[in-house]
Amino acid sequence: MRKLAAGNWKMNGTGDDLEEVRALIDACPAPKKTDIVICPPATLIHRMSEIAMGSSVQIGGQDCHPKDAGAHTGDISAPMLRDAGANFVIVGHSERRTDHRETDIMVRAKAMAGLAEMMRVILCLGETLEERKAGRTLDVVGIQLDGSMPASFPPGIKARDALIIAYEPVWAIGTGLTPTNAEIAEVHAFLRTRLVERFGAEAGQETRILYGGSVKPGNAAEIFALPNVDGALVGGASLKASDFSKIVLALDAA
Ligand code: PEP
Repeated sequence: MRKLAAGNWKMNGTGDDLEEVRALIDACPAPKKTDIVICPPATLIHRMSEIAMGSSVQIGGQDCHPKDAGAHTGDISAPMLRDAGANFVIVGHSERRTDHRETDIMVRAKAMAGLAEMMRVILCLGETLEERKAGRTLDVVGIQLDGSMPASFPPGIKARDALIIAYEPVWAIGTGLTPTNAEIAEVHAFLRTRLVERFGAEAGQETRILYGGSVKPGNAAEIFALPNVDGALVGGASLKASDFSKIVLALDAA
């Protein structure tokens, strides 16, 4: 299974920042076992995908609407992302779940819209600090997985290729805090078991599970050495090629 380093630029970046993608391609021209995707704001997808064409870097959206088109001011659909040059899409990021009150049902519909466009879907889930303190982490993550995982896959699309799970503890995102290695390993093992139950041994083992939440060059190698960690979803440290390339190279060396 190839690993995945995914960068989520969130609401950051204008044309000047496209230089960072050129620098990332230069720093990581051909990772041996790692795929790289950058998910910029929608306004940069087209320009970034032209820069990245034929390179080691692929482009993704940060969200998509469940419908293909219609009266949904401000939204963007999976066919639009595809048309702009994206072949990945993040769904269910905790900032979307909080800021836009996205429920598991909505996230599932978005995931299925991405799959219908033949995009790879990065499905995010994770507990709040209160939920972790209450000992509810695995319950919460399990409920989110059951509720937001695509109900079916389009003909010819394999779950292990198209679906990527990102475990992102809400309290670790953008805070500089991370769970202990044992805590990350526990959740990833739990998710692996659930994926094997759902897709069977081989496909479940080969479905990528990313860790996200304050991954930096300084902690990346340690996190990537943990079992069932197949890559990372990175926010802040993906904005600068000098940081993100170090994370990519740490993953490729793990
Ligand atoms: C994220 O936005 O998905 C994320 C993990 O952010 P950060 O790396 O900044 O914590």
